[in-house]
Amino acid sequence: MTVKPRRALPFFHRHPWVFAGAIAKVEGELAPGTEVALVSNKGEFIGRGLFNPNSNIRVRLYGWEEDVPLDRDFWSARLDAAIAVRRDWTKGEQSRSAERLVFSEGDGMSGLVVDRYGDWLLLQLTSLALSQRVDEIVELLQVKLKPAGIWLRTEKGMRESEGLELSDGLLTGSEPPRPLFIEEAGVRHSIDVCQGHKTGFYLDQRENRAAVARYVKGHRVLDLFCYTGGFGLAALVCGGAQEVIGVDSSEPALTLARANAESNEVSDQIHFEKAKVFESLEKMKAAGEQFDTVILDPPKMTRHRAGTKQALRGYHSLNRMAVDVLRPGGLLVTCSCSGLIDRADIDQMLADVSLQAKRPIRILESRGQAPDHPVSVHCPETSYLQCNICHVE
Ligand code: SAH
Repeated sequence: MTVKPRRALPFFHRHPWVFAGAIAKVEGELAPGTEVALVSNKGEFIGRGLFNPNSNIRVRLYGWEEDVPLDRDFWSARLDAAIAVRRDWTKGEQSRSAERLVFSEGDGMSGLVVDRYGDWLLLQLTSLALSQRVDEIVELLQVKLKPAGIWLRTEKGMRESEGLELSDGLLTGSEPPRPLFIEEAGVRHSIDVCQGHKTGFYLDQRENRAAVARYVKGHRVLDLFCYTGGFGLAALVCGGAQEVIGVDSSEPALTLARANAESNEVSDQIHFEKAKVFESLEKMKAAGEQFDTVILDPPKMTRHRAGTKQALRGYHSLNRMAVDVLRPGGLLVTCSCSGLIDRADIDQMLADVSLQAKRPIRILESRGQAPDHPVSVHCPETSYLQCNICHVE
């Protein structure tokens, strides 16, 4: 497959997504999922990838050596590398009870996510070509990790973007228990890996939950978009906060959150409210509520570049309202998982909020996603999570 003149640079720099517009010509009739070699218009080899005529990402690149095909040995080596690096990080520590083992482009496997919760693996496929190789991947994971079972989770919109027809279900072994229990930094979490968001839990916020816990001793904490209570429970159990109010609009999430409060024996210090965050903040402001810490972890606000302006307006309103219920000298923890919104945009948004509210804001920690969601320097899109811990005067 030949790249158009002057369009090859990103791929020589190992960006793995070749969009349709960069391709000059395809030799022969290629079935979806076929392995292709990408060459420049001068005929130089660039990389090896998998073709999908149904996707805007026409080719996902995986290999950078001309003579190494994308066969079973190749995927086996990639999986080994992803597993080994995580074992290295946790060396000496008690092994984690849940982790992301494969983070798509962050581990050189565009379109594949593997999360481990205890003895179970959760698989997500967002590439048609890899989904055709699912049996091989499952078999490799079985041999390497000997899980009790592997369950497939699918994302919405894959049929439109990849032509991918998959449904959730058991791939091998036994079904994961519902709920499944894990422990994170001394906090017990019950997780619904089959129906919960993502693969059931926001593993990407693990280190941020621990970081926030270091600031909140004795605090009254407002945990907005609390899901199953991750930040709030860490604040109580690890951080010694005094009281937490968690707000989320999802009843199934709050049911697990309440069960988590009980199993961590903090039910009397944490209260969950089913509400829309904007409405809840308005009510709290009107009632003159004040918190020592406010955590904002909203869902992704845009999936398209065209939506970034509106998303930033959304972040602005949320943060503006959050500051109104924060006591002078309080802590604002503000997150964004919209990959299309840059760090500089969030900093600017916070500057605007600060001026409008007449409350100086300083960023104490500018954080990202947990290290088992590594950012590939060749694919900036792998950096998607921001978590700013701020002091608000
Ligand atoms: N902080 C959580 C993850 C938050 S995910 C953790 O550490 O685990 C975002 C959450 O926002 C989801 O639980 C979703 O149910 C909730 N949500 C989305 N829109 C909402 C709204 N308008 N009001 C309240 N909650 C909302």
